[in-house]
This record gives sequence, structure tokens and C-alpha cells, in this order.
Amino acid sequence: MLTSLDEQSSTIVEETENIKCPSCGSNTKFDPETGGLKCPSCSHEMAIEATSKHNVELDFNAAGDSLYHLWQEDKRVFSCDSCGAESVLDANAIADFCSFCGSSHIAVTEKDAGIQPGLMIPFHISKDEAHAKFKEWIKGHFFAPSKLKVSYRLQKISGAYLPYWTYDSETSSRYVVRVGNYYYVTETRTVYEDGKAKQVTEQVRKIRWHRESGIYRKFFDDVLIKASTRVEPKLLQKVQPFQMASLTDYKVDYMSGFLAERYSVSLQQGFTEAQDYMKQRIINGIEGSIAGDIVEVVNVSTDYSDITYKHVLLPLWISSFQFNQKVYQFIVNGQTGKVSGNYPISILKVVLVSISVLVVLFIVYLFIDS
Ligand SMILES: [Zn+2]
Ligand SMILES: [Zn+2]
Repeated sequence: MLTSLDEQSSTIVEETENIKCPSCGSNTKFDPETGGLKCPSCSHEMAIEATSKHNVELDFNAAGDSLYHLWQEDKRVFSCDSCGAESVLDANAIADFCSFCGSSHIAVTEKDAGIQPGLMIPFHISKDEAHAKFKEWIKGHFFAPSKLKVSYRLQKISGAYLPYWTYDSETSSRYVVRVGNYYYVTETRTVYEDGKAKQVTEQVRKIRWHRESGIYRKFFDDVLIKASTRVEPKLLQKVQPFQMASLTDYKVDYMSGFLAERYSVSLQQGFTEAQDYMKQRIINGIEGSIAGDIVEVVNVSTDYSDITYKHVLLPLWISSFQFNQKVYQFIVNGQTGKVSGNYPISILKVVLVSISVLVVLFIVYLFIDS
């Protein structure tokens, strides 16, 4: 398997029938530098007309009972035996290894590609740029084991679109709150000083409580939920944010030469996560809308209506490898170029460096001593 990794860029996607080069007939690929299609054989370029109609809000409640939103294009899903990641590729494309863990135990499945993406941010950072960033990152990590450097040398870095959901919802929340207001009373008490009783007068703060109830309404627009579970969340956090203003309509051309991770958080699970986010905002909103020194929310019950969703893809360069049964990843934000990664520390290198430091110290000691 390793022998083919050198040509990973050409083997990962092959024979995508719908986008042939008009001048030589080769398969074109999406080129992040120009934002168009480029022929790898004759460098012929073709523009892609980017659109952003943003009219792709889909009815959440209708998603379950219709196949209408399924990915209609010819796609195949590859599943990784090692980490379970599912990758969506063009029908005739071949995956040699899993982008998310580096394993070559990856096979095509009968599974459908799921709901078709509506919006995406196409790659803006090219593979060469991502690879250069990988090189720079490795240089700064001397204690990384050689295996990492091998995956760097083989240019084992792939462009994957990560799946996200966004939800819109009207909310109407019935609430009960406990409101406390401060008031002060003058109290006199007896204290003993040197065995003598003495009267002390002071202002003491008290709280008067009452309950209020009402209805709080709020519209939520584009609550973004990650539907990928295959990229280390801490790493992903570090390469964010994505500039969501650049979202454009999904186009099959942007996928050419790239893969998409099939979502592993379902539309329904994603909405449950979105509700957790909304609930917190609703509580904050209720607390902020009520006058009082202390506002405690006792009970909230929320109705969600007019729920719509979009399936969104965001670009990420990934290089993954396994070391002692653990997966390590290096990632580059495909839009902004921000990088992050983790790696195992090579014990051998640490020991060798420690020994050489000790040897140097010993020699210095001998010199000083003589
Ligand atoms: Zn060509
Ligand atoms: Zn895997």
C-alpha cells in the first residue's frame, strides 16, 4: 500500500466522469488557488460559477419521511475498519487509506451518502501550501517520532470536507422565575466589650422574593453544529474560526479531487445539540429581560417551530497516522491556513538528547575541576 502513497494526489480520485478536460480529455480537479477546475495533464483551466442563493433552508420535520434531500449524485461511501470514519467520494474515485487515521484498511460500502450538502466553503489553501505548513510544523517538533516524518515525506495529506449542520428555529418559552429585590433595615443588637454590654445599630441587607411568569420569544438563525466526530475536537478548535460569510452553494465541482466525511452526528442528534445551545441562550435572555437584583429561573418549557436545517461542508487538510494504537493528526484550515496538530513524543530521542546533555555537562565539569 505504501508504494502508492507517493501518487496519492492522483490516485485518491480517479475517473470522475462528469468533469473531463475539454482540451485533452483527462479528469479535471478542483484547484484551490484559482477557485476553478484545472486539468492535471495539460493545465487547462475552467472557471466555476460560484453562487450563493442561500435558499437552501430545508424543512426539519419533513427530513425523516422523504428521500428528496438525499445526495442525488453518484457517490460512494468508504468505511474505515480501524477508526470507523466514513468518507464520501465520487462514484469512480478510490480511497487508498483513511484520511482520519491513516489506516489502509478501508473498503467501499453499500451505504448511501446521506443528505446532500446545501452550502460549503471550497478549499482556498492548495495542497502544496498545506504540505509546506506541515513541513514547517514538523521542523518545530524535534521530539516527534520518525513515523510522522515518513507521512510528511510521502505527502500523505488529504483534503476533506467536514460535515456540519445549521438550524434555524422560532422558539416560544413559558417561564417561571423567582425575583429577589434588596431592601435594608436598621437593626440594633447587643455586643459585649470588656465584659460590658453595648448597643450597636447597623443597616442590614435583606431580600424580598416574588415569582413572575411569562412568555419569552426568540428566533435562532444558523446555529452551527459539528457533525464530524473523526477529528480531534481540541485540534479543530485551534484552527477555527471559518469565515462563514464565504459560504457558497454546494457544487459537485468543488468535490473533485477531495472527499467529504459522511456525517456521524445525525440530523436529529444535531438538533438536540442545537437545542442545548438555544436553551442556554433562552435562559440568559429571560434573566436579562427581568428587572430585579437577583433573577433565578425556576422553570422553562420551550416550543420549537418553523425548524429548518442546512447541511454544510467546511474544508480541512488532514494528515493522520497511528502510533502505538493511538491516532495522531495534523490539520490545516482549508480556508484560512491555520494549523494545529498533536504527536507522540519519541522516548528514544528524549533519552538520547538527555544522555548527550549529561555527557557535555560532565566534560565541562572535568574542565572546571582541573
Ligand atoms: Zn487537459
Ligand atoms: Zn480510519
